[in-house]
Amino acid sequence: MTTTQWQQEWQSAITDPAMLIKHLGLDQALLEPARAAAKLFPLRVPPAYLARIKKADPADPLLQQVLPLGIETLPSTGFTADPVGDNASLHNGGVIHKYTGRALLITTGACAINCRYCFRRHFPYAQSNASTRQWQQALDYLRNNPSIHEVLLSGGDPLSLNDRRLSELANKLATLPQVRRLRIHTRLPIVIPSRITDELIGWLTNHPFKPVMVIHANHPNELDDPVANAMQRLTEAGIPLYNQSVLLRGINDNADTLAALSERLFELNIQPYYLHLLDRVQGAAHFDLPEQEAHRLMQRLAAQVPGYLLPRLVREVAGAPWKVPVVWWEA
Ligand SMILES: *Cc1c(COP(=O)(O)O)cnc(C)c1O
Ligand code: SF4
Repeated sequence: MTTTQWQQEWQSAITDPAMLIKHLGLDQALLEPARAAAKLFPLRVPPAYLARIKKADPADPLLQQVLPLGIETLPSTGFTADPVGDNASLHNGGVIHKYTGRALLITTGACAINCRYCFRRHFPYAQSNASTRQWQQALDYLRNNPSIHEVLLSGGDPLSLNDRRLSELANKLATLPQVRRLRIHTRLPIVIPSRITDELIGWLTNHPFKPVMVIHANHPNELDDPVANAMQRLTEAGIPLYNQSVLLRGINDNADTLAALSERLFELNIQPYYLHLLDRVQGAAHFDLPEQEAHRLMQRLAAQVPGYLLPRLVREVAGAPWKVPVVWWEA
């Protein structure tokens, strides 16, 4: 099989902390801790994302999302391996069914980028990965639960599967008459925008479901021209686009940044959807923000942007029947 451009970019991601530090002209003192933290959760930065990181700036908001830090290796009270109760809701074949009417499929453990705050950094992908001959089990689960009318492809990143695999999956899902919508949760259009190929768009617009795409961007610097072009092509194909972000200390924890993010998303025809409070996953405590600060931030943001550009502040609570809205205004 020929390797396409996006697959080449995938393969040329930086995974060695020494290369990252050299390429960006960062302090060598960062190297040893980065190596230690990368042993727990590997470094991974694809070239298109790397190109947006400012050189010699350890505070760069994109760098901070990917650079392994020594602090990740320290335990922190209240930060656990499975903060959102995924294991309790996990069924055979990699189906996570938490909410009425929709179920999430772990299609793969692979991501094009490794985000240090990822709530799945400890998820047991090897055992529960719907791509490893487990699709039949996932399908059986869905067939036995006819109330599920929306299937979310997640992971890992579902767009790490090639277009042929995605077609196979959609064809299998098409045998389930109750499924009406297929939602793709992906960060690939942000980190490898060349993933949005004509073939992918062809697939998205030709499977029998109503497509929805939810991307993941946390900072306006992530939305450069190649990303804008990719999103434009999705819009032209009629794909509804939403964005979710994670509120991250030192990265997007100020109202001006979040307002700029919303404005940029709007230029790209992407609706701001959720702003997640950090899931308390082991190794990510330094990204956390006291909830009071998040409230004040939302108040400042709400005063700056129109209501339709205000994301919903939510926290995922294990066992809750939805993403729990966080009340940030004065009652
Ligand atoms: C977040 C999530 C969803 C999607 O929730 P929406 O509120 O519909 O966006 C669905 N299933 C699982 C398991 C989730 O974690
Ligand atoms: S792209 Fe999403 S799933 Fe993958 S590491 Fe980043 S936050 Fe986690």
